[in-house]
Amino acid sequence: MSTNPFSSKADDSSAARQPDRTAWLKGGRAECQMSPHKPLGTASRIILLGAPGVGKGTQADLLCHRLGACHLSTADIFRTLKCADDKELSPAMHNAIDHLKRGELVPDETVLNLVGERLRCLKCSGGFLLDGFPRTVAQAKALGQLLETHNIKLTAVFNYELPVEKLVARLSGRRTCANCKTAYHLTTRPPKFSDLCDRCGGKLFQREDDRPEAVRVRLAAYQKAVQPLLDFYQQCGLLFNISAEGSAEEVFQRTRLTALAA
Ligand code: AMP
Repeated sequence: MSTNPFSSKADDSSAARQPDRTAWLKGGRAECQMSPHKPLGTASRIILLGAPGVGKGTQADLLCHRLGACHLSTADIFRTLKCADDKELSPAMHNAIDHLKRGELVPDETVLNLVGERLRCLKCSGGFLLDGFPRTVAQAKALGQLLETHNIKLTAVFNYELPVEKLVARLSGRRTCANCKTAYHLTTRPPKFSDLCDRCGGKLFQREDDRPEAVRVRLAAYQKAVQPLLDFYQQCGLLFNISAEGSAEEVFQRTRLTALAA
């Protein structure tokens, strides 16, 4: 019998062969340089949810390391598209990038086409950690149908939670160097000299959308948008709420225990 990848006895060797994500990022015929080799049936297939600032990206990295599964972020696909040659982009892709630039959600149909083109990543024996998708109930239902057609079962949906005021503190404490773009945080990663970069001496600034008033607006919009999705996965019996209080390692241990109990 295989060991549960979340148990403390689990083999951590998958970390040594972290798969790459070429097929996910580029789509089409792009091939991954290193695919995960796992016996079918042992893979974890997880959806990650959580408000901006909750630490979802850090948990995704830790989970990838533990599970050897790919971090499949739809935002990363869009960032890759933004850097692509204009001539390589279809009208739908141009349209998606316009939405992205305006800070709006990309239409469901476009997102679903992009994910559908990357079906082999969902079918991959290494499993997956979906991040940023699904974003709407329509996307969740379409994903459910796609997985069912290919006889793939979701393992769980992890929803990271933190009280609004803590999220505001986390996001509004962020500072970035105007010169080299190094990221700081006033409490968790402070610069040596108040508003100067340790690396290059550049001036640190706060992003407009990280100001407390803007953060509260963003968080309220997020909560309103995500609630139907939470209700949907709750009804499916797949939703696990995980407190994101404390250090990244503490949250990861909580995730591990949640997954074992799931
Ligand atoms: P994120 O970093 O996950 O907030 O995504 C950044 C941007 O990418 C969003 O503001 C949307 O424009 C776009 N995006 C990413 N994932 C999706 C999705 N599943 N549905 C619609 N738009 C998305």
